[in-house]
Amino acid sequence: MDFRIGERGEALRAEVRAFLREHLTEELAERCHRTGVAHDDGFVRAMHEAGLLALGWPEEWGGRPCDPLDRCVVEEELSKAEAPTYGVSTTHMVARAILHAGTDRQRAEIIPRALRGEVLIVLGFTEPECGSDLAAARTRAVRDGDEWVVNGSKMFTTNAHIGDHVFLLARTDTSSKHGGLTVFLVPLDQPGIEVQAVRTISGERTNITYYRDARVHDDWRIGEVNGGWRVLGEALQEEHSTGFGASMLGLLEAAEGWARTARGGAGRPRIDDPDVRERLGRCAAETEVSLLLQRRAAAMAQRGDTPVAEGPMAKLFSSEALTRAAEDMFDLLGPDAVRSRFTPGAPEEGRVEHALRFSLGTTIYGGTSEIQRGIIARRGLGLPR
Ligand SMILES: Cc1cc2nc3c(=O)[nH]c(=O)nc-3n(C[C@H](O)[C@H](O)[C@H](O)COP(=O)(O)OP(=O)(O)OC[C@H]3O[C@@H](n4cnc5c(N)ncnc54)[C@H](O)[C@@H]3O)c2cc1C
Repeated sequence: MDFRIGERGEALRAEVRAFLREHLTEELAERCHRTGVAHDDGFVRAMHEAGLLALGWPEEWGGRPCDPLDRCVVEEELSKAEAPTYGVSTTHMVARAILHAGTDRQRAEIIPRALRGEVLIVLGFTEPECGSDLAAARTRAVRDGDEWVVNGSKMFTTNAHIGDHVFLLARTDTSSKHGGLTVFLVPLDQPGIEVQAVRTISGERTNITYYRDARVHDDWRIGEVNGGWRVLGEALQEEHSTGFGASMLGLLEAAEGWARTARGGAGRPRIDDPDVRERLGRCAAETEVSLLLQRRAAAMAQRGDTPVAEGPMAKLFSSEALTRAAEDMFDLLGPDAVRSRFTPGAPEEGRVEHALRFSLGTTIYGGTSEIQRGIIARRGLGLPR
């Protein structure tokens, strides 16, 4: 297998870097960092205008042809730069679910707007009592004429405070666990929905959302009644195929930048210290493995194969490697490492300190490490449950 990025991919990389230089301004980066919100309408519209938002989507929907392997390059550049694209990823995940399972009207109304950056869709799967075991969802949707009435609560509904719709997993039948779930695209701007902020250790703002007689028209049911588990399956497959190799690359660059400028005993640059080099070398090797695992999953998608175990391997390895590397780099920088961004004297603008806090969530969302190991064991190795 050849995971090298070809000329077309490298040209795309240059295009994304030029875009980021122009649009990911200091002011925007600081705002995202202070608010903990990884979405910005203006930035997403600019991505659309630059032709970077609809990469890999079918041309009939306004997409720009792009192989999965080349798309890896774009994602690597955006995440290394910490560009505010979390809202894009959830919106596009739902748009793809609608492409596969939605009605013609749902496709026509949502997909073009999603690809122009005109709609923000958030994910309402996790509940206070269930996350990994999503099929245990208890939020109820009960039919009332042409509408459904929703009652319950969802945990970690990231971006719900600025979103247009929530892709909501609801229980429509209590007699079957997996066979009693339905998915709806619920408008967030209505009196029956309350959004409360939840702050995470990384500074990210997420939310808990409450549904009290919230309403959604049956036209916005995605897929069959009680067929939600199937609709969700494909969306989750994509979530389980994310990776954090690019975040490791950002961390490595920060640590290397520090090692080249910081001075140790006798005024020698810290990078001359064998211990520093060894740690940077270890981080570089794990970064490379993470990126290669992600590219392998993309290469499989390019061939038309589904990376059922390979996607989870990339997510599992890269999130745990990021956590290991962030701890190691934090230790390497010593007391200065605790200074966070915008604090005078913070080394490398506090990127190592932030990486440590950020890394801790990466082994949880998008499927925890234990869940990924379970998928690899069952689907990859064929082991019993
Ligand atoms: C920052 C952040 C943002 C998020 N954004 C969203 C969002 O936008 N929308 C959304 O719907 N959700 C979101 N989530 C939720 C996330 O997907 C869940 O937190 C995750 O799926 C874990 O679920 P849980 O928190 O209920 O933990 P639980 O499922 O209760 O797990 C608790 C522990 O038990 C382990 N465990 C559970 N089941 C098994 C098993 N079968 N085998 C072995 N071990 C197991 C887990 O690995 C974990 O260590 C977000 C979470 C975070 C932290």
